[in-house]
Amino acid sequence: MMENSASETSLLSPCISTFGQFISQNRMPHALLLVQESGADLTALSTLFAAWLLCQKPTSSGACGQCRSCLLFQAKTHPDFFAFGEADTSTGIDEIRGLIQALQQTAHQSGRQVVILQGVDHYMPAVANALLKALEEPIGDVVYLLLAQRRQRIMTTISSRCVKLMIPSGEQLPTPVQEQLKQLYWKPELAAFYEPELQEWMIAHPQEALAVLYQLIKERVTELTHKRLAMSNPSQAFSLKPFLLFTDEIVSAMKQASLPGINKLLLMESIFFRWQELTALSRKTSL
Ligand SMILES: [Zn+2]
Repeated sequence: MMENSASETSLLSPCISTFGQFISQNRMPHALLLVQESGADLTALSTLFAAWLLCQKPTSSGACGQCRSCLLFQAKTHPDFFAFGEADTSTGIDEIRGLIQALQQTAHQSGRQVVILQGVDHYMPAVANALLKALEEPIGDVVYLLLAQRRQRIMTTISSRCVKLMIPSGEQLPTPVQEQLKQLYWKPELAAFYEPELQEWMIAHPQEALAVLYQLIKERVTELTHKRLAMSNPSQAFSLKPFLLFTDEIVSAMKQASLPGINKLLLMESIFFRWQELTALSRKTSL
């Protein structure tokens, strides 16, 4: 129960751990360059990072999902979050200029601002120069997350101003879907379950989806165990029973998922409803 959950879970790539260390040690670089040369989509990973950066009560493994900032982020209305471009196209110079203007206008109003720029390896020289200027003259507490597929194609003057995170290809890479599942963990309304792409994947791979959930609940139990041990007054102790029961239910669902003729959608839905109940219980008892 006391294992280091962050290091044992295969879903957390070394890159996520590194990012977590930047957050927990309060030494977040001003600009990060995420490179995935095998061409995998980095949107989910960078979104996870952005939420984490903006969260008012970040944990060692991600955003809290409950603070005002997280709620704004989930509602896609966070005023300090900017995202531009697509993986395979260049962003226009007007967009970069507009971004810099927006950052200048709002920097004084709030805390950290986060900018995701996709397809930096496709930037035309003029756009790259505009970005370079922004990186050279940072405004307020801005963190830039630059995404690219080909490191060689990025202007050296830009990449030299970034801390590089090479995302390993192959099995270590958390798939976007797994990342979405991880984010789902802290979405109280579980809206993500109703995103067709994710739902389709979970129904097609119930074992993998349940394994991710199992891991997340195990991490939560570990966290709560530490919390309980740290309590000075034993009468304040709370029960871990509902969480442990839920891990049993996940194990049983894993067995059921392999049975022929089982309705996987119903099975997964029932698990998610139970999870929702547990999340509500956590909030009520402010665990
Ligand atoms: Zn938060």
